[in-house]
Amino acid sequence: MRVAEFRHATALALSLLLAACGGDQQDAAPSQARSAAGPELIPVADADWARHGNGYGEERFSPLNQINADNVDQLGLAWYLDLDTNRGQEATPIVIDGVIYISTAWSKVFALDAVSGRELWRFDPQVDRSRAALGCCGPVSRGVAVENGKVFLATYDGRLMALDAASGKVLWQELTIDLSKPYTITGAPRVVENRVIIGNGGAEFGVRGYVSAYDADSGELAWRFYTVPGDPSRPFENPILEKAAQTWTGEWWEIGGGGTAWDSFAYDPELGLLYIGVGNGSPWNPAVRSPGGGDNLFLSSIVAVKAATGEYAWHYQTTPGDAWDYTATQHLILTDLEIDGQTRKVILQAPKNGFFYVLDRETGEFLSGEPFIGINWASHIDPESGRPVVNPEAEYWKTGQPALVIPGFYGAHNWHPMSYSPDTGLVYIPALELGYPYAAEPEFELRQQAPNLGVDLAVGTLPDDPAVIQAFKDQTRGHLAAWDPVARKEVWRHQYAGPWNGGALSTGGNLVFQGSAAGFFHAFDATSGKALWEFPAQTGIVAAPSAFARDGVQYVAVMAGWGGTFPLLMGDLALVSGEVINRSRLLVFKLGGEVELPAPDMSRSQMADLSEVELDPAVVAQGAATYTNYCVGCHGSRAVGGGVVPDLRYSAFLQVPDGWLNVVIGGALKDRGMAAFDGVLNESDAEAIRAYVIDRNQYAQRTGDTSRLGR
Ligand code: CA
Repeated sequence: MRVAEFRHATALALSLLLAACGGDQQDAAPSQARSAAGPELIPVADADWARHGNGYGEERFSPLNQINADNVDQLGLAWYLDLDTNRGQEATPIVIDGVIYISTAWSKVFALDAVSGRELWRFDPQVDRSRAALGCCGPVSRGVAVENGKVFLATYDGRLMALDAASGKVLWQELTIDLSKPYTITGAPRVVENRVIIGNGGAEFGVRGYVSAYDADSGELAWRFYTVPGDPSRPFENPILEKAAQTWTGEWWEIGGGGTAWDSFAYDPELGLLYIGVGNGSPWNPAVRSPGGGDNLFLSSIVAVKAATGEYAWHYQTTPGDAWDYTATQHLILTDLEIDGQTRKVILQAPKNGFFYVLDRETGEFLSGEPFIGINWASHIDPESGRPVVNPEAEYWKTGQPALVIPGFYGAHNWHPMSYSPDTGLVYIPALELGYPYAAEPEFELRQQAPNLGVDLAVGTLPDDPAVIQAFKDQTRGHLAAWDPVARKEVWRHQYAGPWNGGALSTGGNLVFQGSAAGFFHAFDATSGKALWEFPAQTGIVAAPSAFARDGVQYVAVMAGWGGTFPLLMGDLALVSGEVINRSRLLVFKLGGEVELPAPDMSRSQMADLSEVELDPAVVAQGAATYTNYCVGCHGSRAVGGGVVPDLRYSAFLQVPDGWLNVVIGGALKDRGMAAFDGVLNESDAEAIRAYVIDRNQYAQRTGDTSRLGR
């Protein structure tokens, strides 16, 4: 099947891939938080949300039950805070002793009175915005850690900082990465045994993953665990890496190998084990990364190390020899489950590959793995070996054919945290339903300031055919799944129009909270899945909520704001849940809350009509290829914006060639997150990209897609 036929024949969700670029909207000044008095409530004792996932086990469960399935219809806004960036909000609010700590895009930190919303302090680490193009997924931050009077912040540009929790003053900071390599940090640090744990990202671009532990008091490096081996001609940093190196071939260290631990950790204080979720291979295509095959440890694995020393304890690899960006960086949950009449200490994960895993967390023993969405890359997990049985048709690097694989690189579950309720025994998974047509890049070329995947991104680009685009939109979906990890089956599901909905919170009030891409904050009955309440947040929500109680009142807090790789990259499919404004806010709810959000600005921008501009088809084709390799990851497939960074088809610079060059090559907007591509692209490349975007403008004129909310 030729590629063009393949594109038209497929009626499945897909997209296009990562690259560089980016631009920030104008920052707005944060407004004063507002509050209102509530009605009489049955008081509850003060309760914090002290850690990223609440407990060390990251259950994301709050036992609070003042807000419950019987009264949640009275839930309202207690206060809100407008934030000064709209590049995506992914942090879980941490709440300790009546203070909320959040981090925002560009790694800024706010400390706020949890009851009134009054700002106590703020801190801006002045992230180097020219590094925006070195991350796949926007300059987001998933939160801070707070312990013993210190706030620990990991910045997008690779620093780990300790701030005084009372004042926001910097106590220490350490650079955790080599700035000459495309590392970035978006994850939240964790503090265990007085050490601050932090990983990093960059496997799409070409790095070697590792996790570092710093002394919480001094900032001194305590240990570092590399998740993939380095050059075997040099000493291995850790004995286990010598064994891991036997599962690799070729010269993987030249590009890095990947295996970045960019999000999930969990800690068992009794066992003294830290669990690390390890990411995908770099490049994705295993024929490029490790030409002789092999499992490529510890890609796509859960690795347990001793928290005190970083010494290896055990691992379980979810996707041996990963070829599809199937990270195992997804949320890890520790709990005890009764399995076959025995209480087992387990670790739960729903990684990108679509299987829901239950492992023994003392030993790493595989207990079960069941698909939680319809998948086609593997038929099942062999219970004896714990290895997936892979569908040969999914092995695009062997067949030489594009393979429409489900799930695609977004996974069946991405970073949006799931939640486990010990009351219902269910895990609530923000699930994604979409595939991707993987095809090997005809000839691998290492690019600077761009993804290096070994996968042909042009194959994933939708054609200029509204019917085909609509067919893909119809099959790009998402849902909240309530999964029984013992019975290994879905108990209920709430279907959404699209994927990339928020993280989940379950509570003792028999509720599950989740925000949606469509701009609502929802509460469901945790047992039945019945939709009980929703709040129009006016903007897409991707972050996970937290819950706390202060002065007898329970609150639920969530960060609103659209962002992350899905809206940056997906183009036509990015707004499949509906077009919403992108407004970053912290929202805090309580029973009887009566604060109202101001009416949103629903004004629309109109695209200039460039239909009359004459274009050379050869230049447009060159521009399309360059755009696909360098720009698409931030500015969207087919140059269709997803509501986070400027939609280039609206750019005034399309008609000002010198201005365009000044931005793309000269870096005129680098302080706003649009990297300079001098030394990477030349003027002819930039001109060709401009021609391609004008061509996209002309296509939009033909199909009537010529206005956008807010820009
Ligand atoms: Ca990845």
